[in-house]
Amino acid sequence: MPAVVDAELCTACGTCVDECPVGAIELNDVAEVNADLCTECGSCVDACPNGAISLQ
Ligand code: SF4
Ligand code: SF4
Repeated sequence: MPAVVDAELCTACGTCVDECPVGAIELNDVAEVNADLCTECGSCVDACPNGAISLQ
C-alpha cells in the first residue's frame, strides 16, 4: 500500500515533499500522497519529524 499521511500529526513542514524521489507528495493544508505515483520506498516515513506518514 502507498504511504498514508495522518492529517492530525502533519504540520505541513514540507520535508517529505523534498524527500520523495518520485514527486508523489503534494503540500496542501497537509501533505497528500498521490497513490498512483508512490513506489512505497519509505523515504518520507523516515524523513517526517512528526511520524505522520506510514506505509500500510
Ligand atoms: S514512500 Fe517513497 S515514493 Fe511513496 S510517497 Fe513516500 S517518499 Fe514518495
Ligand atoms: S514531513 Fe511529515 S509533518 Fe512534514 S509535511 Fe510531510 S507528513 Fe507533514
